[in-house]
Order: sequence, then C-alpha cells, then structure tokens
Amino acid sequence: MDPLDSVKKIKGVGKIKASYLNALNIYTLQDLLKHYPSRYIDKSNLSAISEMDSRDSSAVKGKVIRLKTRKTFKRKSILTITVVDFEDTIFEVVFFNQNQIISRFKEGEFYIFYGKYDQGKMVHPEFIHEKAPNIDKFMRITPSYPLTNGLKQWQIQKVIETALGLVDFSKIQGLPQELIKKNQLCPLEYAIKNIHFPDNISAYKAAKFHLVYEEFFNLQLGMILLKNNFDQDNGIAFKKFKVVDDFIVSLPFELTAAQNRVLLEIIEDMTDLKVMNRIVQGDVGSGKTIVGFIALYLTVLNGYQGAMMAPTEILANQHYESFIEYFKDHNIRVACLTSSVKTKDKEEIYNGIKDGSLDVVIGTHALIQEAVKFNRLGLVITDEQHRFGVKQRQKLADNNDTIPDILVMSATPIPRTLSMVIYGDLEISTIDEMPKGRKEIRTHYVKKSKKVEMYDFIKKQLIQGRQGYFVCPLVETSDKLDLLSVEKHYKALNEVVFNEFEVAMIHGQMKNEEKDQIMVDFKNKKIDVLVSTTVIEVGIDVANANFMVIENAERFGLSQLHQLRGRVGRGSHQSYCFLLADRLGKVAKERIKIMIQSNDGFKISEKDLELRGPGEILGIRQSGIPMFKLANIVKHHAILSKTQRDIKVLLREYKLGEDQDLINFVNNKSREIFNSYKLS
Ligand code: ADP
Ligand code: MG
Repeated sequence: MDPLDSVKKIKGVGKIKASYLNALNIYTLQDLLKHYPSRYIDKSNLSAISEMDSRDSSAVKGKVIRLKTRKTFKRKSILTITVVDFEDTIFEVVFFNQNQIISRFKEGEFYIFYGKYDQGKMVHPEFIHEKAPNIDKFMRITPSYPLTNGLKQWQIQKVIETALGLVDFSKIQGLPQELIKKNQLCPLEYAIKNIHFPDNISAYKAAKFHLVYEEFFNLQLGMILLKNNFDQDNGIAFKKFKVVDDFIVSLPFELTAAQNRVLLEIIEDMTDLKVMNRIVQGDVGSGKTIVGFIALYLTVLNGYQGAMMAPTEILANQHYESFIEYFKDHNIRVACLTSSVKTKDKEEIYNGIKDGSLDVVIGTHALIQEAVKFNRLGLVITDEQHRFGVKQRQKLADNNDTIPDILVMSATPIPRTLSMVIYGDLEISTIDEMPKGRKEIRTHYVKKSKKVEMYDFIKKQLIQGRQGYFVCPLVETSDKLDLLSVEKHYKALNEVVFNEFEVAMIHGQMKNEEKDQIMVDFKNKKIDVLVSTTVIEVGIDVANANFMVIENAERFGLSQLHQLRGRVGRGSHQSYCFLLADRLGKVAKERIKIMIQSNDGFKISEKDLELRGPGEILGIRQSGIPMFKLANIVKHHAILSKTQRDIKVLLREYKLGEDQDLINFVNNKSREIFNSYKLS
C-alpha cells in the first residue's frame, strides 16, 4: 500500500477507529508509522526477584515448587504458587478466584512471570511456560503507545502491526543512500519496524539512531533550504552614511564591543542586495534596542521606511518614546501604531505610511495588518519574542516589489546548539556583553517565614527613593492552587505592608490604556511598588527600579525567572532579586540555585535546556517549528553535529550539480518543506 493511503484502508479500521486515530493526528499510513511508542514493555530482560520492586513491572524466571489453593470465609478462592528464581529466592505468585489457572502449572517446571513484586508476592502476573510455542511473542519487547479516549492499547498495537505489513516501504522518501552508508545506518524499513516492535535491544538502538538522525536532518536541511529561498538578490542594497557614525558618537554612552560587532554584521547585510534575515540574540539589558534604532536610522537616510514591532503596547510606547528622545535633533517622522490608537488618528497614520510621509512606525501586531500598506518599506524589526514567521515574510515579499530586510531581536538567549536548529533559517548575531558599569543583581532565596525581614529591607530601599516589582503567577485567586493572586497580594501590600508608599497593580486582564497609565506613572515615580503578573516580563526599562520579588518562584521556568529578573539592574543602584517559595521540589531547588549563582542568560538557558528539555524552550518560538518526535537536542547532541556536517557536504555536492539523484532529492525536499510552510 502507498504510505499516503488513508488509515481507513487498513482492514479492521472503520469509521470509529479512524476517528480515534484522527484525534491523534493520524490520517495516513505514514502518520501511523510515525506514531512512535512512548515506552516499551520489555519482557525479554529477565530480572532476579532481588532486583524487582513494586513500582515497575519486570519479568522473572522461576521454578514452581508448590501449588496450593484455599478458600476464604467469603467463599473466594486463592491460588498460591511457590516459586524459586535463579538466585534461589523463594516468592509467591497469587491468583484470586481463578482456580482453573492451576491446570496450567506443573511442579518442577520453569515459567516466566511478568508483573510487579511486592513483599514476597507477585499478584496476577502475566505468565508463560518456558517452552510454550508462543514464548517468542510473549518475550518480545512490546510497544506502548500514546492513546486517546476510546482507543485501547492492544487495538493500536494491532493496527500498527498490520500497517507495518502492508506499507510499501520503497515509496517512503528516506535519507539519501549515501548518508545511510556513510553513517552505517540500518535500512529505513528495518528502522521503522524495529522502532515499533524491536527484535531486541540492539535492533531498537539501531532503529532509533536512524530515525533521530533523520529528524535532525530533515529539520535542518529544511531550514537551510528555506533560507536559501529567501537568499535571493531581490533585496535592497542600502548605502552607508557618515552621519550614522556621528549619531553613534553623540550617544550618551559608548556602545559595547558586542553592540558594535553586531551593528557591523547588520550593516553588512543591509548594504548587500541579499535580503537580510537576521536574529539578534542578547541577554536582557544588553542594549538591543539602540542597535535596532541605528538600523532604522540608516534605513530612513536611504529614503526607505522602517517598522518596529513589539509584543505589547507598553513596549511599543516605550520604544516610541525613547526613539523620539534619541532622535529629537533629527528630522525623522515617526508614529506609534497600536490597537488603542483612536480610529481617526489611525487613519492618519495609515495614510502617512501609504504616502511615505512617515519614516518610521513603531507598534504592535497592528502594524502588519492588511490595511497597512507601506510606501517603500525597507526594514522590519521585531522585538522580543515576536518570531517573524516564514508566512509573514512571504506576505511581505508578496506585497512589495523589493523585499524589506528583516531583523528579529530576542531577549531569550538560547544555547548555540539549539539556536542553530530553531533559527536555522536566520543568520544569528549575539550581543554577549553587558554595558559597562552595570552591577550584578544580587539574588536571594527567601522562605516564607523570612518574609518580614525582606519587607524591612525593601522598605529601606523605598525610603531611599528606589522602586520595585512584585510578580505573582496568577490573576484570580484559585482554590486549587495555593498561589498568591495579584489582587489578593496587592491588597495586602497596599493596605498593610507598604501602607506608607504608593502601591499599584497591573495585569493582563486590564484595559490597555489603564496598563499604560500605570507604567507611565511607575516610570515617573508616582508609584513605588508595582504588583504584577508576568505582563512586565519583557523589555520594560525603568532604571530606578532595583528590587524584584518573585512569588511562587517554583512555578516559573529558569529562562522566565531570568527574564523577570532582568527588569531590574538597569541603573546605577545595586539591585536585588528575591525568590520566594516553600516546599521546593528537586528541580525547583536546582533552578533557584542556578539563579543565585549566575546572571548570565546564556549559561542559564543552557541549564534550562538540561533541566526542562528543548520542548519547553522551543515554546518561545511561536510557530512554524516542527517538534522532534524522537530526537532530543541535549541527549543526541553528537548526532546533531553529525547531521550538520553531513548537510554541509551534501549541499556542496548539490551545488556542483553533477549527481542527478542528489539534485532530485534536494529539489523534492525543498518543494515539500515549502509547501508545508505555506499550508500551515
Ligand atoms: P534589551 O537588550 O534588554 O532590549 P535595552 O535596549 O532596553 O536592553 O537597554 C537597556 C538599557 O541600557 C537602556 O536604558 C539603554 O539605554 C542602555 N544602554 C544600551 N546600550 C548601552 C551602552 N552601551 N552603555 C550603557 N547603557 C546602554
Ligand atoms: Mg529590549
């Protein structure tokens, strides 16, 4: 059967079963084959009773030495079989109300039992005679699949086993033969069969190696092909301007070496005819904004328009205000476009964008809405978390004669291995240095019982004129989770703890104008303490704020804790971060330890990757990134490097244009990848 045939073609899969499979995102036979087991039941691996426990099932082989049945008062029957294993440990196998089973055992013969062992007994284990004809089937490694409501484990096992016998494997586009040979991978058919029903452990390992390699290979090659697709000479070749250097010299601070290096990389891209697709990674507070502004300035000097998108209105307004401040002596026409701009003003901005009378527009999502037609868009910057997706790029390309350059700025430092994978379609610049004179933030773990001392410390800071944040995980009080809600916490801090100071609250369910007003008041020091949810997570820049209290710190991931902490430590005052938590689990403890030890976002994200795995970190990249099913960037790092090297060689050969098979392969892949992005 063709791998792309519907699962309905499998005998025994009717409408209902198909709908269950669909719920698992399985439509074709190929989807089914890619529905990998989440774990395996290995009865082939025999344990001794001394190694077994009550948590996990294991298989044990033993000789039956006595069979005994008895009745309880309630006329229930109990069959007790006394067994001895190869270490001479004696244990009992017990069956309730299954008297007929006794006929299947004989004293003096060997059986294999599979189940949990607790206090001298195995209750209702699976079992088989060592010489039974179906022993191989019993002992084989059995897959256990992720399920959905209505579907039973044995049913999906059967469907997959049937499918494995039906599919025409030669029709599945696998890796190029060359790479299979070079890396001594097992054949694809063998890999697929053995990932589901491994013949033995080493067959499973070989299968997994093949499939992990393939996942890395497909994603990375896909990214590179995507990138090449955009690497065309239909961009804008901006010219350099001396006044840009003058502007840099006139700044109130000197750019760091890292900022200068990244700026050079950006300008190099911009002055090239190729379209820029670059991401600037830098820790919170490393000074990405000014680098983006300089790129916007160069754009305007060239007679093009620039756009900058931020994830929230607060940030858009902040950027807008600081842009005006930086460029107050320059004649740049700039507007701020967010959804809370009044309709009449919006119209005016739309017109200005369209007729070219606006040079720079800073805003939120609203910026790339249909109604917004640029006159001559030259550069698009997206700040903080906004992943500029392939689709949006495509849209820009469709709407413009020339394609604008694209700069993505991310404050989520990502380990190099990971960034190569998830940003494989972008060039990467890294600001790995903090502006001079920054003081390290001091981070402390505070038990709830020590809160009062912390409050006293904070009061002293407030008296000296400092400000700060309290961050809580949830907005409304939830009974289930004993988490501090913002509202409850605000009340306590405002009315009791800091009653002689100005305390305000901000959270995601407030109206935008309300939020903005509070942020403005906070910046202007009308508010001393801001109690908030994670809406203040990214980008807010208030230099006078020097303390950050994170309630229920155990609820946050490492990268997020680090991001939150980055809201302080932006000025000349010593800053503090207090992590509050009780009843810490092992992982939470580890996280807090790392936070106390390190202020380096890259180091922290490396640890985060280890602790939480790539899945969680990948969540930051909003869309368009297929998840790995088997591969794990941390565990399979060596395979990842291998595929990277192989792809390089492969593409070099492809460019030589001699190997027709290879050319077909890459072109097919290219089409496949591109279509999948267009559809999603
Ligand atoms: P982020 O990288 O988190 O977006 P920002 O761009 O908001 O950081 O910069 C944080 C603060 O550091 C801003 O107040 C900015 O003016 C300041 N800053 C940026 N670059 C420098 C520098 N080279 N020296 C001193 N301060 C700088
Ligand atoms: Mg920023």
